[in-house]
Amino acid sequence: MKLWISRPALEEIIRLAEQYAPLETGGVLLGWRKGPDRVVAAVVGPGPLALHGRHMFLPDHAWQLTQIDQAFASTGGGLDYLGDWHTHPDGAAELSALDRTTLQKLGRRIMDAVMAIAAPTGEQSWTLAAWRQPRGKWWDRPAAEDCDLVIFDPAPGSPDWMPMIGVSNIE
Ligand SMILES: [Zn+2]
Repeated sequence: MKLWISRPALEEIIRLAEQYAPLETGGVLLGWRKGPDRVVAAVVGPGPLALHGRHMFLPDHAWQLTQIDQAFASTGGGLDYLGDWHTHPDGAAELSALDRTTLQKLGRRIMDAVMAIAAPTGEQSWTLAAWRQPRGKWWDRPAAEDCDLVIFDPAPGSPDWMPMIGVSNIE
């Protein structure tokens, strides 16, 4: 699966990652499905009542739901919930054992649920990696699969939730 992510959405993840480091933070990925691929157009942050620890993060779920509803309404239902993102401020952009369990649970509710993890690569930069959870019966315990990440710039002047109109640059 390719996970397309708009540059403004990626920048928002990195901005929040830096704001909360050395504590974890995270949120929700919003966008749409394009065949087998996913397009992340916007992200929702942790919320005011989220809990941030060095190796744990619990989102403010009620706040996130209102944000998702607002995004859904303001785009005429154009944005879908695709999955979650969170940071590993002193780790790597890899799934922990707990992350794998969380993603498997998410995958039972959502087709090809996505989990993205941001981790620092140096003093000033972060990297993002993402996985999808294939659907399967719980006894199969299908393993998470890597997503190919593609960063794109929305067309100039387009709202950041409509990035597929004029993809101007692809890395
Ligand atoms: Zn994690």
